[in-house]
Amino acid sequence: MQKKDTHKTICSYCGVGCGIEVSKDAKGILSVKGDEDYPVNKGMLCTKGKTLNYVAQDTKDRILYPEMRWSRNHPMQQVTWDIAFKRAAAVFGSIMEKYGPDSVGLYVSGQCLTEEYYLANKLTKGFLGTNNIDTNSRLCMSSAVVGYKKTVGNDAVPIAYADIELADCFLIAGANPAWCHPILFRRIEKHKEQNPKVKLIVVDPRKTQTCALADLHLQILPGTDVILFNAMARWLIEKKKIDKSFIQKHTSNFEACKQMAFELSIRKAAEKCGITTEEIRKAAKMISDAKGFISMWTMGLNQSVIGVDKNVSLLNLSLLTGQIGKPGSGPFSLTGQPNAMGGREVGGMASLLAAHRDLGNPRHREEVRQFWGGKEINGEPGLTATEMFDALESGKMKAIWIICTNPIVSLPNAKKIEKALEKANFVIVQDISHNSETTKYADLLLPAAGWLEKEGTMTNSERRISYLPKVIDAPGEALPDAEILWRFAQKMGYGGFDYNNVSEVYDEYCLMTKGTNIDISGLSHERLQKEGSFQWPVPSPEHKGTPRLFQDQKYFTANGKVHFNAPRNLYNKSEITTTDFPLVLNTGRVRDQWHTRTKTGKVKRLLTHIPSPFLEMNKVDAYVRNLKEGDIAVVKSRRGNVRVKVKINYDIRERVVFLPMHWGKILNNDFSRANNLTNDIVDPVSKEPDFKYCAVQVEKY
Ligand code: SF4
Repeated sequence: MQKKDTHKTICSYCGVGCGIEVSKDAKGILSVKGDEDYPVNKGMLCTKGKTLNYVAQDTKDRILYPEMRWSRNHPMQQVTWDIAFKRAAAVFGSIMEKYGPDSVGLYVSGQCLTEEYYLANKLTKGFLGTNNIDTNSRLCMSSAVVGYKKTVGNDAVPIAYADIELADCFLIAGANPAWCHPILFRRIEKHKEQNPKVKLIVVDPRKTQTCALADLHLQILPGTDVILFNAMARWLIEKKKIDKSFIQKHTSNFEACKQMAFELSIRKAAEKCGITTEEIRKAAKMISDAKGFISMWTMGLNQSVIGVDKNVSLLNLSLLTGQIGKPGSGPFSLTGQPNAMGGREVGGMASLLAAHRDLGNPRHREEVRQFWGGKEINGEPGLTATEMFDALESGKMKAIWIICTNPIVSLPNAKKIEKALEKANFVIVQDISHNSETTKYADLLLPAAGWLEKEGTMTNSERRISYLPKVIDAPGEALPDAEILWRFAQKMGYGGFDYNNVSEVYDEYCLMTKGTNIDISGLSHERLQKEGSFQWPVPSPEHKGTPRLFQDQKYFTANGKVHFNAPRNLYNKSEITTTDFPLVLNTGRVRDQWHTRTKTGKVKRLLTHIPSPFLEMNKVDAYVRNLKEGDIAVVKSRRGNVRVKVKINYDIRERVVFLPMHWGKILNNDFSRANNLTNDIVDPVSKEPDFKYCAVQVEKY
């Protein structure tokens, strides 16, 4: 029997970053299984990872060749790559000449590989001469980035998955890892099974599957997280359950944190959060009793108009108890996308510079300019995700290049995004699939290679960098995103883009990190292929990587101490509910779908779990609206409507409803698109949108 051709790679879905073994048989049929040697998942995969072979093999939806139209009245037509690059360069060039470099921008994705992210950032900031490059990671991680920067001095997750098995108390806030980070949650589950004294606290207005394992579920009112964390801080301080020696030696600004924590009594805080004082005390006591305390969070905290405040007030709990930089402890923001971390590292956001350098620092900008040999870099942040689409709508920005993301479904206030793309002079969409609703807005459509069809690296939630090999050829004329970017740059006449392969791009980026706190100058594609994955920093070819940061209690802040931050807002600043819009809408994921379903929507097996969108609502709210299980309801906000089946239970708080974010269009309408309803207000610092809170009304259809 002929031996299978087997390769080790990484799952292309969530930030857990599981290792996968892909095999190709003699007929070229792909199969996948969990990589038993990979430290993250040790052979386990969730339903999405297990079915990735179907996604990779089914090419019916793929964009196979470049297409363009001469104007919005002309049909799309197939063109050669050379014509596509000429057109992209000519239009971008003429728009920038007429309106200046800030009239264009790139909107990229946490699913791009690190090398692609690096090139997009280099091209935009170093050569186009604008900082208008942002990513869909803005929608999920930017509040955590700011929280870490304000606390530990840079965007650095201190912890590793291996700390899970060393902890004895977990606080999971605004996250449902049982569904959204399943393999990571399986590790917590197993650890708790083997050590029944391990405690799990879950903070969520919904009773999710994660709550089934919880010792304590704090079912708070939406938007009251800061009040809750401050109340827990107050209890720890009052009961003298803080680590005084750690605070004195290694932290700064404790008094500001204390002052905010004492703004409200615990009784008042409990009232505001809609829970009991006893629950707050119980949670704080579990944390204070722990030898190893880990907090984990995702979009429930980040996607908020006070997302940064939610982050810093949670991080304060780790500082108060000295639970950072030691085994089994630390604040752990879980990333949603497979390479959101890699993108942050290479500075692929409007507010960041490559390799953890600071965009506002003239010396850092000059270092980067010299390294790239490009233009002077502007010190002002560029336009962020929502700001770019606002600028297209107002005419301030004229052209956008969208890579590997589907903003028509995923950005808030989606009707406005449609208008912005209609108004734009020129839209490039670079993607793998016609399943993306955004492709219909393209003036130039560029076919990209997908998972298994190109090589590169990704970084998961625990700073683990892994190499992904090319296993199969891309269909049609699709090219790796990195090659598309460097060939466009060459067409623009920019120097410094004469790469022969993606390994050269990676070598350049690794060299750029030398001497920074994210130093990976000891890495290369070759080393990653030979020796496996590494957690950064990896500053020399002999270095084995760094599972846990700050073990020496030296932080990346100017004074070397970890910094307490007083949240600016105790109270939520989201849209206010009224008698016309009396309910709070929360949006999120379901277990077997991913983002806007361009990939998971192709796998029949994944539809057996939850086949269609639904509105989850409390029985009391349903009763007063005369709604029964399975009825069709109309959900209305100030921005639009959604028509969807109702799912009724007591798992969600009264006056709160939940709608999954995945579905864009069903039966050629957009009635189920959650972002018809959501609000595009953002956190003023992180610029992350407030997806988790908008005022709606629900009526029987
Ligand atoms: Fe992929 Fe995440 Fe599932 Fe692991 S947990 S298999 S990374 S989707």
